[in-house]
Amino acid sequence: MFEDDLREFGIYLSDVQKSQFMQYYELLVEWNSFMNLTSITDYDEVMKKHFIDSLSIVKAFNYMNENFVGKSGFSLSDMRFDMIDIGTGAGFPGIPLKIVFPDIKITLLDSLQKRIKFLDEVIDKLGLSGIDTLHGRAEDYAKPDKLNKYGTLREKYDLCVSRAVANLSTLSELCLPFVKKDGFFISYKSEKLTDELKEAGKVISLLGGEVEDQIYFKLPDSDINRNLLIIRKVKNTPEKFPRKAGLPVKEPIK
Ligand code: SAM
Repeated sequence: MFEDDLREFGIYLSDVQKSQFMQYYELLVEWNSFMNLTSITDYDEVMKKHFIDSLSIVKAFNYMNENFVGKSGFSLSDMRFDMIDIGTGAGFPGIPLKIVFPDIKITLLDSLQKRIKFLDEVIDKLGLSGIDTLHGRAEDYAKPDKLNKYGTLREKYDLCVSRAVANLSTLSELCLPFVKKDGFFISYKSEKLTDELKEAGKVISLLGGEVEDQIYFKLPDSDINRNLLIIRKVKNTPEKFPRKAGLPVKEPIK
């Protein structure tokens, strides 16, 4: 069950957080009846495959705490840092993370306007703060000269996360430009990576990243594989990346 699974990650919910997850589930099912948000609507499946899966990133947080305390600008001790979720869709993993760790500042980015509308409703109904939505493509928002009400988003974030958006080469070009030097990009993959990692090795280092580790496990009480790939930003990203919108998908760097 949801709360038993959470306990495996060391997460204990308050009554307010429990009701926020319930409201989120109800809004997801309600809006999914008139727009395409997710193919999963069964209660137990949403809990496991969306909520628990999103929160499984705490395994990577623990790893980073053990290995980077004092060595990086990224502090996990108080869970106060700036994070962006690229291609968040119906809010995964960003919204579950916001509910559990309210002090993380989160930006949810998606190129589909109707999903952003749904997310704005979720944020409003759940009473979440310190969370923003952005409509547009990652390639555009990461450009050095792209300014919005926040200034530039390029190399602004301590952490960039992304789940189920693209292959690793494409994703690295979409995500690494947002990460500060000494920050991290964590990609939710399902299998342990060897070939995909070999293929993406060039773009990861070209964009200033370095692969730290992969954390491979099964979600609690299930056969569902999850692999969290941890990439650290060791250098700034050259200004010519990301390339024009669409190119990272059409022509991934090899
Ligand atoms: N992350 C969510 C999840 O795990 O359920 C959604 C995954 S969904 C398969 C991929 C999402 O990425 C879609 O909502 C799509 O609009 C968004 N997306 C794809 N390419 C994008 C880009 N270049 N910039 C921003 N969002 C993008």
